Amino acid sequence: MSAVPRSIGLVFDDRFLTHDTGLSLIEDRTPYPFSKPVAHPSSPELIGRAKQLMDLAGITDRMTRIEPYTADDEALLRFHTRDYLDRLAVLDKTGGDTGSGAPMGPGGLRVARLSAGGVMAAVDAICAGSVRQCYALVRPPGHHAMPDQGMGFCVFNNVVIAARHAQAAHGIRKIAIVDWDVHHGNGTQTAFAADPDVLFISVHQDSLYPSGWGAVDQIGSGPGEGSTVNIPLPAGSGNATYRAVFERIVVPVLEAFEPELIFVSAGQDASVADPLARMTLTTSAYRFMATAMRDLAERVCQGRLVVAQEGGYAPAYAPYCSAAIAETLVGAGEGPVPLIEPYGDYDGSIPSNAWIGLDAAAALQAVFDMHASRWPLEPPDRFVDAAHE
Ligand code: ZN
Repeated sequence: MSAVPRSIGLVFDDRFLTHDTGLSLIEDRTPYPFSKPVAHPSSPELIGRAKQLMDLAGITDRMTRIEPYTADDEALLRFHTRDYLDRLAVLDKTGGDTGSGAPMGPGGLRVARLSAGGVMAAVDAICAGSVRQCYALVRPPGHHAMPDQGMGFCVFNNVVIAARHAQAAHGIRKIAIVDWDVHHGNGTQTAFAADPDVLFISVHQDSLYPSGWGAVDQIGSGPGEGSTVNIPLPAGSGNATYRAVFERIVVPVLEAFEPELIFVSAGQDASVADPLARMTLTTSAYRFMATAMRDLAERVCQGRLVVAQEGGYAPAYAPYCSAAIAETLVGAGEGPVPLIEPYGDYDGSIPSNAWIGLDAAAALQAVFDMHASRWPLEPPDRFVDAAHE
């Protein structure tokens, strides 16, 4: 017998790196025409470095390569409108903004289709039984994309399209989507707000982006009421709060829901170094979140877990968080070169990584108050107690 069976898939393709987001300034140049733009935050450098780190640490070698394919109109139209696809076909010749802050260069449409098809390919590989879990390290990201427009760096909503693909092509009915990107997954929430078969849980920085989305009282509508769980956290929340969120809310709710397939919308922009948000997670948080999701998938749905790349904008740090997720899936500490935490024992120097602040405890209490009648959440006093443990 030769190699150890590799049951963790990886979707990656160099073509993802050709998605051109150009240069940017936070605001337009009107009052300061001399100011020099910098690289767009959603640059190819982020997932390119993540892949390189995974290569150097021997993680890629322990994964099964899953080839992405081009999502066709039928797949895209399960969420997006025909009018949007028609507009994109025109825009593809020149490049430009696909909607609201989601630029692509000329020819970018094929990359966006490949990104959506990459997450679909991950679903196919898992449903075929060739891998148990899969990390889709795709680009552009997806969770902000709305039916009729791109938004927030996202052109197509990759996870929504892949979830609908799982239902249409593989006979899966109940799906859970956990979105730990620091921004709210407004496009995903829109897709499934009225759908009781798809549970959407978003953990995000409160009132960040997009404006007006992700409040705790957005719980779905009609037959989907209660199957949207928003967990908005105050800026500055760290590893301790995220651990409580997963142990006391995300995992119990998913266990009760009993999905047949789990997606993670994995943005690594809640990291301590991210320029677009104000959370303080380190690589160890991404390890325990990935562990929690993998173990949960093993318990409730034969291991079926798709981790789909979303945001993450700290060029020197987010790639370590992404690679830590992949290493967790394949087995940390078992590779030839252990992946390090680049800041060393940084967790311990950040108070919010050891303590749940009172503002974060209040945020968790609000989630409990909103959802305890529907889901088996831990009693609220535990949240407060944890601030003093
Ligand atoms: Zn984000």
